Amino acid sequence: MSTLRLEVVTPERKVYEQDVDMVVVKGVGGELGILPRHIPLVTPLKIAPVKAKKAGSEEFIAVHGGFMEVRKDKVVILAETAELGSDIDVARAQQAKERAEQRLASKQEEIDHKRAELALQRALTRIQSSGH
Ligand code: ATP
Repeated sequence: MSTLRLEVVTPERKVYEQDVDMVVVKGVGGELGILPRHIPLVTPLKIAPVKAKKAGSEEFIAVHGGFMEVRKDKVVILAETAELGSDIDVARAQQAKERAEQRLASKQEEIDHKRAELALQRALTRIQSSGH
């Protein structure tokens, strides 16, 4: 069976580089499943886990927005931050989730709700990507 190369890159490092059978991402227009020989495509991504499927197993990468470029047999995801599911500090993400939820529940005017909402999405994406 043919495979495609998945690369996840941040300004600091290459987070992931593997040959996989399928990539599933959450684009701004909805979920996309990318198989080898997919048509070329560029899309912004939502803050969400990216799923890499290979040989019957699945890996998750927490990707915090950014863009995906699909070429013939290659998918490149560029994001400001991203972590492998297995590298995620779940307790830290849980604390970030609770902080964001408290901020969103607060009636204080100086709370930046958009910022808290994004922090909550990052924390939830990390928790989901870690398999918890
Ligand atoms: P926190 O409030 O816990 O710092 P955050 O969402 O504000 O979370 P970011 O600004 O998105 O954190 O990330 C800062 C750096 O810390 C990045 O390099 C990111 O990969 C890393 N990071 C953040 N949270 C975690 C986590 N739970 N596990 C592993 N790495 C993390």
